[in-house]
Amino acid sequence: MGAWPEARALCLCALVLLADGSPAQSTPPAAALHSNEARFVTANAEFTLLHEMGHLLIAELQLPVLGREEDAADQLGFISLFLSYDRHRDAGFYAKLLDVADYWRLEWQRPKPDNEEVHPWDSHGLDAQRFYNLACLIYGSDPDELEWVPHLTGLPVERALYCDQEYAQVRRALAWVEAQHGRPPGTPPEHRLRVLYDPPSTRLKDGPRLLEWVRGSGLVEAIAERVSQAYRLPRPLTLRLSNCGAADAWYSRNGAEVVLCYESLAHFRNLARQLPRLRQAEPD
Ligand SMILES: [Zn+2]
Repeated sequence: MGAWPEARALCLCALVLLADGSPAQSTPPAAALHSNEARFVTANAEFTLLHEMGHLLIAELQLPVLGREEDAADQLGFISLFLSYDRHRDAGFYAKLLDVADYWRLEWQRPKPDNEEVHPWDSHGLDAQRFYNLACLIYGSDPDELEWVPHLTGLPVERALYCDQEYAQVRRALAWVEAQHGRPPGTPPEHRLRVLYDPPSTRLKDGPRLLEWVRGSGLVEAIAERVSQAYRLPRPLTLRLSNCGAADAWYSRNGAEVVLCYESLAHFRNLARQLPRLRQAEPD
């Protein structure tokens, strides 16, 4: 216990040196700074579905959860998104991850009516906390190469120091879930997730275009196939895009389905329009 503050001071020192421009300093890929509405919408649709898949797996596989389920669902959503693109890290890889973190920064900064505020008693973390949690996991996935992430996101050094451990903890948790509940490859799944698209309401502005962005990307079918192949699901389940009257998404145990609302896609698109302002305001 006594040696702890000293070790912490040494670590702080090392990180400050890196941040001051040692050879380990890296710069963000150009695509990560460039905002793109379609990419922002599809990246956040994907993260939202994977967050809800986290709730689905927790309930359907009866996973043990220590801490807040909403945090566990964010962690499962992040690590699933990260690993599904990790093998081919193209120019858009970090752009996609930053789009997901920046969604929470935009939510945090958005003036909201009282009924949309997240209160301290809520089962969800505050928007700012969810932003920093995601920024920390991105940075922690490869701190040697991603020194630009704390710089770009404003993740304070006190948190950044331990993000590699946070990332490793989440990676280990997913490995445990796969070991306990994974399916052997090469055999057909007993139960699958099927995908349903309800027609977007004509009242939703740009509904067909939003549907085309998401459906054209194939991401919903890819998630359903990955989850069906990866886990021994106990019953048939559905992943549905639907009209809800408000931006929302949920997992319903009774309905045996995950729902992502078209209104959420419109909300992502509206927030994406704030992205150039947010990224121009980034510290030099
Ligand atoms: Zn949730």
